[in-house]
Amino acid sequence: MPEGKIVKALSGFYYVLTADGVVTQCRGRGVFRKNKITPLVGDMVVFQAENEQEGYIMDVLPRKNELVRPPISNIDQAILVFSAMEPEFSTSLLDRFLVLIESKYVTPLICISKMDLLEEEEKLLEFASYYRKIGYEVVMTSTKEPEQLKEILPFLRDKTSVIAGQSGVGKSSLLNVLRPELDLKTNNISTHLGRGKHTTRHVELMEINQGFVADTPGFSSLEFLELEADEVKECFPEFVEKSEHCKFRGCTHIKEPKCAVKDAVEKGDIATYRYEHYFSFVEEIKDRKPRY
Ligand code: GDP
Ligand code: ZN
Repeated sequence: MPEGKIVKALSGFYYVLTADGVVTQCRGRGVFRKNKITPLVGDMVVFQAENEQEGYIMDVLPRKNELVRPPISNIDQAILVFSAMEPEFSTSLLDRFLVLIESKYVTPLICISKMDLLEEEEKLLEFASYYRKIGYEVVMTSTKEPEQLKEILPFLRDKTSVIAGQSGVGKSSLLNVLRPELDLKTNNISTHLGRGKHTTRHVELMEINQGFVADTPGFSSLEFLELEADEVKECFPEFVEKSEHCKFRGCTHIKEPKCAVKDAVEKGDIATYRYEHYFSFVEEIKDRKPRY
């Protein structure tokens, strides 16, 4: 039986795209329903084709991860949009998003938008260089320069991406610029459906530059609801790297002596603000829990 990826879900139908670019409109039927699994956009599924356009989903392959809003699975990358101005760039909010994204095993791509509004770039370039040093990709964009926005395209290839970021940073503007890049396959999907695109709110994966981008932004909740205090340190890549040299295994880098992370902060290898954010996130999560 063929395998494909659900690129759209609407009114009980799942639209499954196979590697040859064909979309099949499927209903769920397989044993997965006994396990109370509801197929999600992003799922890889096994389906049985009834004819050229219709079929039945027989199985949902194991998911790498899933988001609740928008409901989507198997996300590789979150394009984290942060404006240089309006709203002003905030490392504490950026670090919060990075932790939330890392905790879902999703790779962040930092996109600093509205660069045209910034008069003095120096401070921002310093931040960018720190985030690059610890392993993140950073692109800087402005809708005033669409060519610059296209720097994102190579990062989309072969991945399923979701756009994240607070309100007003330019997520929709970014999606709108990327949209004309949609290749014909996506248009084919719409023709296949033969129904108005605007009838129901739903998530859809758009095929862009041989990758997929969710048309609805994700990571909208900024609370650490699903995260435990001892998991936060894993979401700071520069801590992970240093922690091998901490004296204690499972060092939380807070109270332990001979902590390589704290040493690195003192030496200036790890930015103090990153450590402070780490500390405050851990406190926040501990406060959330009832204490016994
Ligand atoms: P969203 O809430 O994240 O989807 O943000 P929008 O895409 O709706 O953008 C919010 C506002 O910022 C709109 O007025 C956009 O025109 C403006 N905007 C977005 N990107 C840029 C940019 O690169 N430069 C400037 N000057 N304005 C931008
Ligand atoms: Zn430590």
